This record gives sequence, structure tokens and C-alpha cells, in this order.
Amino acid sequence: MNVSCRRATELLSQQLDRELALDEKAALRAHLLICRGCRAVDHQFRFLREAVRTLVARDDRD
Ligand SMILES: [Zn+2]
Repeated sequence: MNVSCRRATELLSQQLDRELALDEKAALRAHLLICRGCRAVDHQFRFLREAVRTLVARDDRD
């Protein structure tokens, strides 16, 4: 299954909100292996998710 960069970016965004289906995960992983640009996007999304988690944790303490 060949995934476009646009589709890969959509999946990266959606996996923040929901669990991806197995075929979506496989397609995304395959695309990330061959596409440096989308790997960079993946890193940004991971960073964002960590940042949000940190903020939420901070709110819980106060
Ligand atoms: Zn790509």
C-alpha cells in the first residue's frame, strides 16, 4: 500500500486523537521508512503530544 505524504500527515495527526487501524499503522510505518519529510513531521507531533501532556499534568497539580 503506497501512502502519499498528505495521507501520512493526516494519519500522524489522527493518531493523536484515536487509535489507528492496523492497516493504517502499517501504511504509516512503511511511509515513514522511506520519507524523511514525514519522519520530521512525526517528530513534531510527538513533541507536541509530550508538551500537551506536560501542560495537562501541571494543571492537575494546581
Ligand atoms: Zn512523506
